[in-house]
Order: sequence, then structure tokens, then C-alpha cells
Amino acid sequence: MVDPQTPLGLFDVEDLIGAEDRAIRDTVRDFTAERIRPHLAEWFENATIPARELARELGKLGVLGMHLTGYGCAGTSATAYGLACMELEAADSGLRSLVSVQGSLAMFAIWRWGSEEQKQEWLPRMAAGEAIGCFGLTEPDFGSNPAGMRTHARRDGDDWVLNGTKMWITNGSVADVAVVWARTDDKIRGFVVPTDTPGFRAPEIGRKLSLRASVTSELVLEDVRLPGSAMLPEARGLSGPLACLNEARYGIVFGALGAARDCLDTAIQYVGQRDIFDKPLAAYQATQLKLADMTVELGKGMLLALHLGRLKDEGRLRSEQVSVGKLNNVRAALAIARECRTLLGANGISLEYPVLRHANNLESVLTYEGTSEVHQMIIGQALTGHSAFR
Ligand SMILES: Cc1cc2nc3c(=O)[nH]c(=O)nc-3n(C[C@H](O)[C@H](O)[C@H](O)COP(=O)(O)OP(=O)(O)OC[C@H]3O[C@@H](n4cnc5c(N)ncnc54)[C@H](O)[C@@H]3O)c2cc1C
Repeated sequence: MVDPQTPLGLFDVEDLIGAEDRAIRDTVRDFTAERIRPHLAEWFENATIPARELARELGKLGVLGMHLTGYGCAGTSATAYGLACMELEAADSGLRSLVSVQGSLAMFAIWRWGSEEQKQEWLPRMAAGEAIGCFGLTEPDFGSNPAGMRTHARRDGDDWVLNGTKMWITNGSVADVAVVWARTDDKIRGFVVPTDTPGFRAPEIGRKLSLRASVTSELVLEDVRLPGSAMLPEARGLSGPLACLNEARYGIVFGALGAARDCLDTAIQYVGQRDIFDKPLAAYQATQLKLADMTVELGKGMLLALHLGRLKDEGRLRSEQVSVGKLNNVRAALAIARECRTLLGANGISLEYPVLRHANNLESVLTYEGTSEVHQMIIGQALTGHSAFR
């Protein structure tokens, strides 16, 4: 028997990652090994996650809004951010969601579209994990088509008054601040809403079979009165929230592969130890065909992610390229997670192993930040010039 290689070792991807980015990745990997992994099965089973405590620890680790600059943000490369997402999601997609929503959605919205006062007020505290943010775009009747949203903001003197309901909002019930998108007389605009404002409620959504180690909530806004300064001045129309989604989708391109890698590592270890009919499961052709196919898909996804990372670091990543990455890597990750589950037999359905937990989580990842079909249509439009959305 020759010395086995790891799936990504086969692709020599380490050589493609700079020393600084690798060091950041390793720090996040160590953090998840010590602080997160021992608790995951329990958090998932009980559908609880100590979000406030973790946010502070993730803030100290420097991963909240890490690829943004100024206001207490670490200012790392986009590739380092992607690699951090990969390590976080190798632990659990819920943990990565907490970080993505904080950094790529809530903080990015304020960083990119906010006033100087809004940035000074929120970003340093959010980078430190002392304040948690959420991002309210989706509504009960409008997910893939946010342009139809009903939540609206009405001018009343200098104030804004918001009414409406948002649905499926990550971090909602634990957030200190919500970035809420609402229809106005002048297009869709974003609002920075402190969650202790009268009329704001965020009941948690229960009975989830996916992303159980993540807080998901409804946002209810009933005559929420905000000062005129609460509106994000630089975002006008749907391009505002869509730019934020693009940031979060980018993190998922890497993140989903983390979950897939964890499944594949688990399966390889398992088949080496499990004897079936007198020899290890690893020594059967049927097993090796599965492992080889999964490794090829994982490696291709990783090369794609690193390529997109490099494009983003050079400031020339286009949104349809992010769609290519999100579509491919989430689909591949989910297929890998399901295939790994088969290799673990009955143990595959147990929380003693991470595989079905990852597979279940990836069902959400497949849907949020644009479903697979939405990304197919974005790519289709880029290829043909025709929009197939309507
Ligand atoms: C765990 C979780 C966390 C989330 N967190 C957030 C959050 O923090 N903030 C937030 O704003 N949202 C969040 N979401 C919501 C998420 O972004 C939406 O669920 C997603 O955009 C899809 O919308 P929908 O669920 O309404 O599905 P729908 O839009 O109703 O789609 C249903 C099906 O129709 C397909 N479809 C849509 N349009 C077309 C078309 N033109 N042609 C053919 N088929 C089409 C879709 O691909 C899908 O298969 C979260 C969702 C989940 C599950």
C-alpha cells in the first residue's frame, strides 16, 4: 500500500495560496477544531447556537467583515476571506452563515452604501462582534423576485415609517441592527434599523431540518419610526441589495467546499476502518470509484474558487462569474455529501458523524443567496443576452 494523499493534496492547491492567506486559514481551522467542532452535534440537535458569545470570539479572531477596510475591519485579501469561509463551513454551514451575514451582508451594506455616521456607529462594533447584524430582503411572498417586495417606508416629516414582514432572516432574533430593504416613492432603499426600535419584532423560525445551528427569523415591522438619517444614502434600487448578495455568494463558493471536504475526509477515514466481507471497504472498486469522482469534483471546485478569489483580489470579478462558482460548488458539495453518506451506511444518518448534518445544511445553501435555478438563469442571460426570469 502506498501512502494515501488527501483529496485536495492531489491537486497541490497549497502552492496556489499565498503564505499570509494560508496562515489566516490555519488560524480559523484551529479555532473551529478547538472551539466549535466539539459542540456541533449538540447545537445541531438542540437547534441552538450561542450566537452572541461566538460573535465576540469570531470578532477577536478577526473574521467579521475581514475583507473590508477601515472601521476595525481586518482588510485581508478576498482569497483569505474565501478560505476562512471554507474552514468555518467545514465545521458547519450555520457558523459560516453567521459570519457571512454579519460581514458580507449587514456590514458590507453599511460599508458600501452607508453614511459616514452609520459606518462610525456600527462597523467597529460589528467587526468586534459586539453588535450582530442581519439583512432583511426576502419576504414570505418574494424570495427569488425581491423586486416585488411589499415592505414599504413612508416619509412622515423628517422621519421614515416602515411597515412589512421579512422572512427567513439569518441572525434576526439575535441581531442588534437590521439592514432592511423597503419600497419607497423613490425606488427600493435600505434602512439601518436598531432592533430595539418600537414596532420591530424578530420571532425565531422553528422546526428547521437544515441549518439548525443557525438562528433564522421572521422580521415584523409595525410602524417602525426611524430618523431620516436611517436610510442608506448611497443605495438606490435593487442594485444595492444585489451587490451585497454577490459578496455573500462569493463566500459560499469557498464555504460549500469546506462542507464537502469534511464529508470526504470523514468518508475516507471511515472506509479505511470499516471491514465488509473480510476486507476494508476502502479496498473495493465500487468505493474507490465513488471517492475518485468526489475528489475530482472537490478539486475542480477548489481550483474554480481560487481562480474567482484571484479575480476578486484584482477587482475584476463579475457577478455572473460568482454565479458560476455558486451554482457549481454548492451543487457539487451537496452531491459529495450525499454520496459520502452512502459510504457510511447506517452511521451516515447519525449526528456522531458530520455527513448528513452537512448534507442537510447544504439544502439551505442551495436555496439561499440565489437558488440554483436563479444562477442558471443569470449564466443563461450572460450567454444569450436574453433574460428568462419572466
Ligand atoms: C436557512 C435560510 C436562511 C436565509 N437567510 C436569509 C437572510 O439572511 N436574508 C434574506 O433576505 N433571505 C434569507 N433567506 C431566504 C433566501 O434567500 C430565499 O429562500 C431564496 O431567495 C429563495 O426564495 P424563496 O424561498 O421564496 O423561493 P422561491 O423564490 O419561491 O422559489 C421556489 C422555486 O422556484 C424557482 N424559481 C424562482 N424563479 C424562477 C423562474 N423565474 N423560473 C423558474 N423557476 C424559478 C426557484 O429556483 C425555486 O426552485 C434564507 C433562506 C434560508 C432557507
